[in-house]
Amino acid sequence: MIKYTEAFIKEMPKSDLHLHLDGSLRIPTLIEMAKKNNIKMPSYTEEGLRELVFKSHYANLGEYLHGFQYTCAALRDLENIERVAYELAIDNQKENVIYIEPRFAPQLMMDADSGLTMEAVMTAAYKGFEKAKKEYNSHPEVVNGSRPDFNYGIISCAMRKFGPKGYSPYYTNFYKMMEFSREKEVLKEGALQMVKAVVKLRDEKDYPIVSIDLAGQEDGYPPGIFKDVYAYAHKNFMHKTVHAGEAYGAESIFQAITECYADRIGHGYYLFDENKITDGTISDKKKYISELISYVADKRTTIEVCLTSNLQTNPEIKDLKNHNFKHMLANRMSVSICTDNRLVSDTTVSREFQLAVDNFDIPLKHLKDIVAYGFKKSFYHGQYIDKRNWAKKVVQHFDKVAKKHGFADV
Ligand SMILES: [Zn+2]
Repeated sequence: MIKYTEAFIKEMPKSDLHLHLDGSLRIPTLIEMAKKNNIKMPSYTEEGLRELVFKSHYANLGEYLHGFQYTCAALRDLENIERVAYELAIDNQKENVIYIEPRFAPQLMMDADSGLTMEAVMTAAYKGFEKAKKEYNSHPEVVNGSRPDFNYGIISCAMRKFGPKGYSPYYTNFYKMMEFSREKEVLKEGALQMVKAVVKLRDEKDYPIVSIDLAGQEDGYPPGIFKDVYAYAHKNFMHKTVHAGEAYGAESIFQAITECYADRIGHGYYLFDENKITDGTISDKKKYISELISYVADKRTTIEVCLTSNLQTNPEIKDLKNHNFKHMLANRMSVSICTDNRLVSDTTVSREFQLAVDNFDIPLKHLKDIVAYGFKKSFYHGQYIDKRNWAKKVVQHFDKVAKKHGFADV
C-alpha cells in the first residue's frame, strides 16, 4: 500500500460532488447568525455546539440530522445564504477543491412573507458562489494557466418527506393548500414545483443550477414516488442525482436509475447488501445484486461516496475498513470522494481522501481515476467540449502535483 502524504493529498486538485450547503457552515458563522437572527440554540460557543450538536460520533441518523434545524433557520435570510455560499466555496478553494456542486433544498429556506421566494434564495446563493469563483479565477496562476480554474454547479434538492409542521414556512403553507390530497401526492407536487422553478431560473437567468436531487428520509419514501419530477428534469436537459441506498436497499438504487434516470447516486451504500432488500418480488437476491453492480459499473453511474458520514449515520459499520467502498473499488465502479456535510460530519475533502487512501489499497493510477471522475462525471455548467478541456487540464495538474511530491510512477 502506498503511503500518501498529507501535503500531497492537500495539494492535488479535488472536487466535491456531494456537499450540503446547510450542513457545511463554519461554526463561528452559525453562532454569529443565530445571535443576529434570534435563533435559539443549545449553546453559543464552538465547544458547546461540538459537544451537544455537531459531534464526531452520532448514535443514529436522527441525531445526525438534529443540527439542520439550526442551520436551516440561519439560512432563512438572504444575506446569510450569500455569506454561507461564499464561505463554503472559499473553504474548498483553500484545500485545492476546485470544483464543487453544493446542494440544498430551497423550499426549506423559503418564506414568501419575508421575501424568501425561490428566485431570491437561488439568487443569494448564486451571488455568494460567483463572488468566490471570480476571486479565485483572477489569481495570476489561474490567469496564466499554470493552475486550473474554479467552477461550481448548484444542485437543487427536493425533500422526499415533509410535513404540515416544523419543516419550513413554505412547506407548512404548501401542505395547507393541498389539504385534500394524500401525503405522497403532496410530496410529489412539492418537488414538481421545485423542478419547474429551477429549470426556469436556469433558462432565464443562466444560473448554474445543474441538477436535481432527492434528500431526506429514504426509508418509506422510495425514489419511484418522484418519477414524474425526474422525467420533467430529464426532458429539460437537467442532470439528475438521487440519495439512494443510504438507509434503504439496492431496490432504491434500481428505482433511482430506471425510474428517475439518475446519472449519479448519492451514497449507494447498501448496493451490496442482500439483507437490506425488502422487495418481496425479488426472489434471487444474490443475482439481483450482482446484476445491478455490473449495470451501475458498466454505465459508469458515479457513486458519490461519503465515508465519514456513512460511519456516523450507520455506527454498526464500526471500522472504516468494513465500509462497502472496498466492494466499489474491487468492482472498479466509478466513485467520487465527497464530504456530505463539512460541519455536521466535521470533515474536509482532504480528510476524506486521506481516510480512503489510509484504509484501502489505492495505487496512484486508481487514485488518479477517482480524482478524474470528480471532474469528468461532474454536472459542469457549460458545453461538453469546455468541460472536457478543463477536466484534461485538471488531470495534467494532478500529474504535476504527484511528481512534485514524489508519486510519479503512474
Ligand atoms: Zn447527502
